[in-house]
Amino acid sequence: MLTMRAWLPDPEFPDRSDITGFYRDTLTRVDRLPGVEAVAAVNVRPCLGWGLGADWDVEGWAPPDPDDPTFLELRIISPSYFSELAIVVDRLRAGARTTILTGAGVSAASGMPTFRGPGGLWKRHRPEALATPEAFAKVPVLVWEWYDWRRQLVAACKPNRAHGVLAAWTRRYRDLRLITQNVDGLHERAGADGVIRFHGSLWEVGCWGGCAAAPTRWPDHTVPFATRPPTCSHCGGPLRPGVVWFGEGIDPAVLAQSDDATSCDLFLTIGTSSLVYPAAGLVQQARHRGAFTVEINPDATVVSDHVDLVLRGTAEAVLDAIEHRVEHR
Ligand SMILES: [Zn+2]
Repeated sequence: MLTMRAWLPDPEFPDRSDITGFYRDTLTRVDRLPGVEAVAAVNVRPCLGWGLGADWDVEGWAPPDPDDPTFLELRIISPSYFSELAIVVDRLRAGARTTILTGAGVSAASGMPTFRGPGGLWKRHRPEALATPEAFAKVPVLVWEWYDWRRQLVAACKPNRAHGVLAAWTRRYRDLRLITQNVDGLHERAGADGVIRFHGSLWEVGCWGGCAAAPTRWPDHTVPFATRPPTCSHCGGPLRPGVVWFGEGIDPAVLAQSDDATSCDLFLTIGTSSLVYPAAGLVQQARHRGAFTVEINPDATVVSDHVDLVLRGTAEAVLDAIEHRVEHR
């Protein structure tokens, strides 16, 4: 799938009043590009006052930034894309045992920051240098400044269409399991049931000292904390973020659940670069166990050549297209 984006006004498209003409000219041009078999979809912000031509289908539309009055987007999809979508749609509708692994790409459309921006005490530190037990032992206040800031930024983000579709699936399909590498909690905020949080959660904490009175992890949605580090209500010692740090192992219970989930009929790996192990190994394990494996990602990754089907596109666009077919066929 090829996606083209243009923002008006653009020097190349000076006359906004002739937007229909602009589209027809552009579509004619892109239709001749190598590899583009047909123009299957057009995305236009409705407020531009330009109606979709009856000969163009609207497919996989992800709303652009509603505050940007000049956004328009063209999406060109080859006809095989639709039959490929149907492969996933048919399996879902047939009640296939389905396991889904999500990564950062699923949260990208929610405006999830990369936490590497300027500002704050942590600006001279790499995230890899803060997200370790050693860093916490040495500078717990600095580490909590960073996590508290991340929690504030994530709290301001909203789940997007990808989270919405996956949440609906967790409630609709009994044999579907959702594993996420994300710690942002957006699957849960979209209403997803039973999320397996591979790398923990920004919205959980634990007792750093591991006092006997406290559970291993518990939910905490305080934003921001009044004191840093926040303290354990059981022993008064410092709390730690409930995420898996570099150098730490995955929770054995989560590993066991994830391993069990690779025994499935359909495995979707969505919005992940498939570089971080052991999560990255799950798709190959599922395939080894006989699952039909599908990658949904805008760009090629290391697993693209090793799955049964690749659906090129953003998580929110492809999942919306699949869900549209599941519901309307
Ligand atoms: Zn404690």
